[in-house]
Parts: sequence; C-alpha cells; structure tokens
Amino acid sequence: MKRSAARDTETLLRQASELAIGFLDTLPSRHPGVTASHDELMRVFGAGPLSEKGVDPAQVIAELAGGAEKGLIASAGPRYFGFVIGGSLPVTVAADWLTSAWDQNSGTYSTSPAASVIEEIAGGWLLETLGLPSTAGVGFVTGCQMANYTCLSAARHSLLRRQGWDVEEKGLGGAPRVNIVLSAEAHVTIYSALRFLGFGTSGVHLVETDEQGRMRPDRLLALSGTLQGPTIVCAQAGNVNTGSFDPLEDVISIARESRAWVHVDGAFGLWAAASSDRAHLLQGHAAADSWATDAHKWLNVPYDCGLAIVRDVTAHRSAMTSRAAYLEQTAGAERDPFDWVPEFSRRGRGITVYAALRALGKNGVRDLVDRCCEHAVRMSELLRREKGVEILNDVVLNQVLIRFHATGKPEDELTRAIIARVQRQGTCWLGGTTWHGMAAMRISVSNWSTSEEDISQSAEAIVAAFRQEAGG
Ligand SMILES: *Cc1c(COP(=O)(O)O)cnc(C)c1O
Repeated sequence: MKRSAARDTETLLRQASELAIGFLDTLPSRHPGVTASHDELMRVFGAGPLSEKGVDPAQVIAELAGGAEKGLIASAGPRYFGFVIGGSLPVTVAADWLTSAWDQNSGTYSTSPAASVIEEIAGGWLLETLGLPSTAGVGFVTGCQMANYTCLSAARHSLLRRQGWDVEEKGLGGAPRVNIVLSAEAHVTIYSALRFLGFGTSGVHLVETDEQGRMRPDRLLALSGTLQGPTIVCAQAGNVNTGSFDPLEDVISIARESRAWVHVDGAFGLWAAASSDRAHLLQGHAAADSWATDAHKWLNVPYDCGLAIVRDVTAHRSAMTSRAAYLEQTAGAERDPFDWVPEFSRRGRGITVYAALRALGKNGVRDLVDRCCEHAVRMSELLRREKGVEILNDVVLNQVLIRFHATGKPEDELTRAIIARVQRQGTCWLGGTTWHGMAAMRISVSNWSTSEEDISQSAEAIVAAFRQEAGG
C-alpha cells in the first residue's frame, strides 16, 4: 500500500518540532560550552562513506538531534556572553520554520510576491527603528560581513563613477585609486570586504583610536589633509571589545570636506538608535552614506541575517543587481530583492525580521536594547565590588571588559585561567580577548531572555573562579 506523502511530512515536522521544543526547554540549564571532541562528533554523525540505500527520514531526524546533543552550544541561552551572538525570539523561530516550509525563491518579486513585500515593509520599519533616511536602500544579507561588502561595493561604484570609471564594466585594472581609511580598531570583516572587493588591505590608512577604542577625529583630520582623490572612510558604531562608538558627527563632517564616502559598521551598535538613553552615542549617524548591521545579533532573529543599508539607491542597486540592463528598472512598484544583495536565488531572509519587529513594536525593541545595556552595567557593578577585579572599559552599551589582579600572579595568565575555569564550570560562557596588549575577559549581553538573576548567578560564578585562581 502506498503511504501518503502528506502524512509522512506531517509526522516528520511534528517530530522535528518536538525535538526543537525539547532543545529550547534545556537552553537555560544546559552546559553552554563545548562538551564533546571532534572525534566523538565525527563518530556520532556517522563519518565514512555515504550509504548506498539511504536511511528512513524519521531516523535521520532522530539521529541528527541525538548526535547534535553534545555538539550544540547554548549560545541562544540566557547566560551565554561570548562574542556578540544574541538568541532568537520565539516568534522569529516560528517565522523561520514557516520560511523553510514555504521554500520561496525570494530573489525576485515574481518568484515570491509575499517574501518581496514582507522584506519591503520590514526594510522600512528597520530604517525607522535605526533612525536612518526613509529612502535608503535595504538589502537582507547573511551577516554583517556581507553587509560591509555590499555597502563598500556601493561606495566603490559611486566614487569611481564620479571619476568617470564604470567599475562594474571595467573592473579595477587601470581604475583611479581609491583611498581606504579605517579606524585602527576596525572589525576584521572590514578587511575581508576589502579583499573581496579587490581593494586589498596593504594600502589602507589607519586612524589612531583613543583609550576606549574610538577613532580620533584630530588624527582623521590630519590624515585627510594628505589624501588626494576618492576616499572611503569606515567608521564604527559599537567596538567589538568595548562597545564604544566613533564620534560619528565629527568623523562625517571631516570626511565631507573631501567628499569621502562614509560607511558605518554598526553590527550591534546601530541598535543603540532604538534605546531610550543611549541613542546619543550615535549622534550624527544618519548623515553617513552607508550602514551595515546585523539582525541575528541584537534583534535576536535566528542565523543568518545581516542588513546592508545605503543612502544612494542608484549606487546600491548598480553595484548589486543581476539585471542584464540594470538601468531599465521595471516601471511597477514591485521590489526585486536581488537588486540589493550579492545573492541571486535566496531564502526569504527578511521574514524573521518582519516577525521580530511586528511582535516587539518600537517599545519592545527599545526595551530589548535597554535591558541588555542595564544588565551589562549591573554585571560590571557586581564584579567591581570584588577587590582585584578591574573593569577596563566605560560600560556605555552591552559590552564589559574585565581584567584580574592578585598578588604574585601575572595578570595575563591569571585572566586567561579565570576565563578557562568559568568556561569549564558551565554556569555561563564568556570569552577572552586582547585589549591594548592585555589579556581581558569579554562579556557581551545581547540576548532577549537574559534576566537579572542570570546576571547575578554569572557574576557569582566569575568571582568564585577568580578567588580559586587567585588563591591557588
Ligand atoms: C559581528 C561583527 C561583524 C561581523 O558580522 P557577521 O554577522 O558575523 O558577519 C562586523 N562588525 C562588527 C563590529 C561586529 O561586531
């Protein structure tokens, strides 16, 4: 007897949803770090030649979930403070499931009118939330690295066009040289973007930063006087270590003097625009030319989702579109997502963003951002009470940098040992970094589900690890 395909689908999806719900239930309590070796995981997932016959789908799903159990990181959980990760609001996980079930090719309007319109609306809400010009172009990309790439492609197009050079047609060979100016603490993904774009990295001009990692306007001004020709200035909103912001108003006004293109990497920091009392950190940001940010970090949608935003829609579209004759834009109002991103066929990546923004509203986004920042302040206050704990940064946003001191212990080793101990112990997870030549513990609070209790519990675990290492 032929089994019903619809019944099989239903059984599989119910099985998957139960497994997924089971995983999410354990998020607050499971060990947030790595607990299995590579060898173990290779065995569990059946490394070796692919079977001839295949395996029953229900068994595949059951074994996938069972095997992953030891290799999953609880980075979406409330006490994971590593890197800048963020979790997933439940409504966004649900929207993501629908996105997969719908399986829309969201590259063009004609292949998915729904996905196109949802992204068009979500793009408008984003611009409103982030305090950016309502007419800017928005592309939903995989992450901030691709957002930086997309924005800098638009910059390359625009600056070279002004020099009479069509870079999309002619490439970079023989093109006028474009100066690239970066903060000395630019994120590594800016360098990747420069490599992908053919600019290379050896010729970049670095602008010195201050003690919080902010670009120094006086140094930018001095450098600007020495540069001739088209220039891109990459500023940063939200230093990945300190959470600090380049003084955007000053940076932009200096850059304007030489008609430079100003790009802002605001992977998480751009969300300060939604905050009740931290939006001032971004003062002047709307006057830039392009902005890159992530939804999968602070907006708490599932991976992967980044946002490339460009003021000049012609530059944005010209740099990205796959249309053969891109100047012949269709007359209708329909939006083809492939005009704004490097991808051609693609997932309806903006659907989770739509769900998050619709569910949260302006107040909800503000509360999410404010809550994380207040947790970060609270964490720094709890830790600071302990003698020997030094908070290295001004906690202006959601990032806290910590260094430890104890008599007779070299600080770098002590700090690293405490980080390793906290990671093993498993109450919370946080990472290490090198800050101005010193080893430091880095805490990022970017998850919707983190509570005050999670913060006190984690601070206690960190202090306990410090006492053990200091006394040992
Ligand atoms: C995380 C981050 C990026 C890269 O974003 P991805 O989403 O990982 O590609 C770029 N810039 C800054 C400041 C970041 O924090």
